[in-house]
Amino acid sequence: MGPRCHFVHYGLRGGGLLNQVAVFESPKARARREDWGTPDELTEAFARTCEFVRGGLPHLWREKWWRMYDRDPIGTWVDGRLALLGDAAHPPLQYLAQGAIMAIEDGWVLAEHARRLRVAGGTVDWTAVLAAYQAVRPEHCRRVVLTARSWGELWHLDGIEREHRNAFLRARAVDDYSFIDWLYGPTALFPEDEAAMFEPVSLDSISV
Ligand SMILES: Cc1cc2nc3c(=O)[nH]c(=O)nc-3n(C[C@H](O)[C@H](O)[C@H](O)COP(=O)(O)OP(=O)(O)OC[C@H]3O[C@@H](n4cnc5c(N)ncnc54)[C@H](O)[C@@H]3O)c2cc1C
Repeated sequence: MGPRCHFVHYGLRGGGLLNQVAVFESPKARARREDWGTPDELTEAFARTCEFVRGGLPHLWREKWWRMYDRDPIGTWVDGRLALLGDAAHPPLQYLAQGAIMAIEDGWVLAEHARRLRVAGGTVDWTAVLAAYQAVRPEHCRRVVLTARSWGELWHLDGIEREHRNAFLRARAVDDYSFIDWLYGPTALFPEDEAAMFEPVSLDSISV
């Protein structure tokens, strides 16, 4: 994490490929009243990061880059026999890496309710299945989409806010997952099974 930027890398294909992702905000684009930076701004955007990260930048493929979009959560995904799922229902920013996860969970929840609501003769009560899906998924995904936004803001902080964030993170135990237990716990099939969210902490309350 750095001011207005972050860098992620992880192994793929059993360690045969190292995937690197560089994300930055572009002051130049803002000055041009455009939303998006370009690959040639990348080195400058990471100028204040540590040597290890700067050392990785020349190895990035720069011809592939993504604009970042999300959308305000919507509460209604079902209309008659039509249901939204995946990005069509809840496109998130990438900070929690949950876009595909939510799509898979949507499919699983639909399938589980279809299995549960199979009526005599093997037919499925689709009205009840879609109602059960609508009852549980929009709220979970609303939390993910909105938390992903604030996660990104937290990562990119600068100045005194960055100092507060770093002091807060340094004080935490490395095996304390209480801020993400709600995300990585079992997928809820019913609203009452949805895990409680964490209590937000005000950065101003952290001493540096
Ligand atoms: C760089 C990057 C990294 C990501 N990393 C992660 C990650 O680490 N973890 C994670 O959980 N998620 C990640 N995501 C997000 C994830 O890829 C998406 O959330 C997920 O693919 C959404 O799945 P989907 O099936 O809803 O939509 P899509 O995967 O977009 O599938 C929609 C499909 O519909 C097709 N289509 C569109 N219009 C039509 C049409 N009119 N007729 C027929 N077909 C059509 C499209 O071609 C496409 O194949 C990442 C995304 C990107 C871009």
